[in-house]
Amino acid sequence: MPSYSHSKLQTYQQCPQKYKFRYIDEIPPPIRSIELHLGTTVHFALEKLYGRARLGQITSLDDLLKFFRDKWDEGYSPQMRIVRAKTTASTYFDLGRQMLKDYHWTFYPFKQSTTLELEEKFLFPISEGQEIRGIIDRLAKNADGTLEIHDYKTSRRLPDSSQIHNDAQLALYEIAIRHRWPETGGISLIWHYLAFDKEIKITKTAAQLETVKRNTLGLIARIEAATSFPVQVTPLCNWCEYKEICPAMKK
Ligand code: SF4
Repeated sequence: MPSYSHSKLQTYQQCPQKYKFRYIDEIPPPIRSIELHLGTTVHFALEKLYGRARLGQITSLDDLLKFFRDKWDEGYSPQMRIVRAKTTASTYFDLGRQMLKDYHWTFYPFKQSTTLELEEKFLFPISEGQEIRGIIDRLAKNADGTLEIHDYKTSRRLPDSSQIHNDAQLALYEIAIRHRWPETGGISLIWHYLAFDKEIKITKTAAQLETVKRNTLGLIARIEAATSFPVQVTPLCNWCEYKEICPAMKK
């Protein structure tokens, strides 16, 4: 049965040709961006922090930053692509440190809720013929039994309210949780925009979740019916891993 992640669906919306490179031709991304390395390393650090918190251990800021540095060095390669002018790898490393410092300061001692799962993969049937898969950064439970789906963003752009309300990613995660545990009560969707030390929290109604599901099925139907995958040139091409082999980028 074909399965779709939010990022796979988003890739098609961004550029059908990029979708073809990645998911039909299955060409491994030839390069890794510094933004991806930053995001992955910060996620590792927060997973470590909450993994320890589940065991009743509080991670000091020094330990968190040391872990971040070790993971950064382990995964870093000088071949990583840096697009933004006047930035270097150190710019991103320092940004990651600042994000973790702010997060540690804001949420210490990390007992606002009880962590149930960390970086947990899920797969659920959105129809009889298609599945949705994803990874929830942190699933937590409040004292009143309601759940929280947390997602960490390392982007340097803060979305506005309408973008948050129209975002399908965490809504699909909520649908997955409700599929797994149909008796679940309230669920909050929480984005942590770490570069801004900002937490954005919303809830969805059953009707809104139904709309997300319907739109997602519509998008999947368009992808599965597609017979051509045109290029879609936008400023995001600068960050595209396939820029070097893209026909639209040939001079
Ligand atoms: S470089 Fe731009 S047009 Fe080409 S595949 Fe990537 S996103 Fe699409």
